[in-house]
Amino acid sequence: MKVFVASAWPYVNAVPHLGTMIGSVLSADVFARYARLKYGKENVLFVSGSDEHGTPIEVEARKKGVDPKVLTDAAHEYVRRYFLEVWEISYDNYTRTESEVHKDFVRKFLLDMSNYIFVQEEEVPYCEYDKLFLPDRFVAGTCPYCGFPDARGDQCDNCGRLLTPRLLINPRCVFCGRTPVFKVTKHWFFDLSKLQHMLREWLESSKEMPQHVKAVAFSWLEEGLKPRSLTRDNKWGIPAPFEGSQDKTVYVWFEALLGYISATIEYFKNIGQEERWKEFWFGDVRSFYFIGKDNIPFHAIIFPAMLMATGKGYVNPTVVAATEYLLYEGQKFSKSRRIGVWIDEAKEIMDIEYWRFALIRQRPEERDTNFTWKETLRIVNTELNDDIGNYVNRVLSMINRYFDGVVPGINETLLKEADRNYMRLISEAPRKMGELFEQNKLKAGTEELLKLAREGNAYLNQREPWALAKINKEEAGNVLTVGVNSVRAIAIMLYPLMPRHAEKLYNMLGLSNVEGERWDEAGEMRLNKGHRIGKVEPLFRKIELTPEELEGKLKEVRHKVEKERPELLR
Ligand SMILES: [Zn+2]
Ligand SMILES: [Zn+2]
Repeated sequence: MKVFVASAWPYVNAVPHLGTMIGSVLSADVFARYARLKYGKENVLFVSGSDEHGTPIEVEARKKGVDPKVLTDAAHEYVRRYFLEVWEISYDNYTRTESEVHKDFVRKFLLDMSNYIFVQEEEVPYCEYDKLFLPDRFVAGTCPYCGFPDARGDQCDNCGRLLTPRLLINPRCVFCGRTPVFKVTKHWFFDLSKLQHMLREWLESSKEMPQHVKAVAFSWLEEGLKPRSLTRDNKWGIPAPFEGSQDKTVYVWFEALLGYISATIEYFKNIGQEERWKEFWFGDVRSFYFIGKDNIPFHAIIFPAMLMATGKGYVNPTVVAATEYLLYEGQKFSKSRRIGVWIDEAKEIMDIEYWRFALIRQRPEERDTNFTWKETLRIVNTELNDDIGNYVNRVLSMINRYFDGVVPGINETLLKEADRNYMRLISEAPRKMGELFEQNKLKAGTEELLKLAREGNAYLNQREPWALAKINKEEAGNVLTVGVNSVRAIAIMLYPLMPRHAEKLYNMLGLSNVEGERWDEAGEMRLNKGHRIGKVEPLFRKIELTPEELEGKLKEVRHKVEKERPELLR
């Protein structure tokens, strides 16, 4: 079996913020790292890329009088470097929609869908000043229902009603503020309604798809699917491949979804095994897509419909791993209002692996979740430092103190019920954590890791190996041998979240290459009599700052970081 892991493609006109990381990029990485240990590195592929076409970037480039690709080259490189080098996102391929492999593939794929495509004329708002057809959300105006002056051509953010640009009172171009005209233009449409029945059958039979994702998809099906335009009148994009479509480009939403496949093709092409991409798209494949909840319809309806429309047997998504929203101290993240933390700022505030752990622990799995500095500090200082850090330090220090750094081994005849209970927990915790991970419950999965450490602390307090060492050294040896094996399990379970710290802990155990371990063997008693542990150091450090001081630190670094960003990301 192959496991395909993907995160949604971020639009490259902004630096990703913490909400993007927890919604897609970081969540997908944690899962991919777990999956490689569970299913074998060669059976897992993890891809994504920069989404760089479309109106906002085209308009920005025109304002600056430069080629849009000049802007996206720099922005893509910046974001890619932060993902791969700073945030330790282990993409096998992080590519971009300007990749030639992607452009070729999109054009071929759309022709494969031709049984479900028709052409129709449409009236579309056009700005004569910007010389630009305006997609719905780039027309603003007054809502005809509630009078909100800043409603968009697709929806009113005040009353929530769906709109069309025609309905807006005093419509205006969002770029220049002038009144658009309506022009007739021809577009190619994807006839989703013809796939309604097949989509329903697939969703009903898909056992692993999370319920909240199914609920959104079924509500779309209830309303009835409508044809969607596949083409746009933009210049900055992939030329549409249809006969007579020379002056059109492919709507960015469709091409970004196809990036999942083209990134796979490109990966195998780069390693000189061109045919192998099919292993991840046909046959025995489970696929996991990490996205924010606003993306559900695209991944649970439109993308599967596109795959079905080709009739080629592409594998549909197994799990659309959608999160709810992350709020920042009670507010929505906002680039223009500078509300939030961006990935390049985060690095200046604390160790990125602390961020990785703290974000997964605040992952919005059941409802929208508020990111707070206070909770972040609690997670780092209490969960990481006290629960995990102190526990592993206690075990390893006592092996040094009472057994000269050598694992004493188990004497079965002296095992007590408490020893056996904790051994059972060690063997069960990795399996439970893995099961939760595969159900898109990463935060819940990490509870198993914390439980193992907390129960470990309780186990030491109950068994008191420091006291046993004076009266029954073999029994003390049992407790610390059980303990050191739980530390090994903790290191492997920590790996998807904090790969560098997991390796550091592995080294303290006198082991190396935690990334080469098997998940299914994490709970086994592998460290036995005679194994020498390594040098023991504190694994984590407390952050001795108040939430207000951390927020102050953010304000200090913001100015410096913003100046270093490429033009498009400022
Ligand atoms: Zn309204
Ligand atoms: Zn305009």
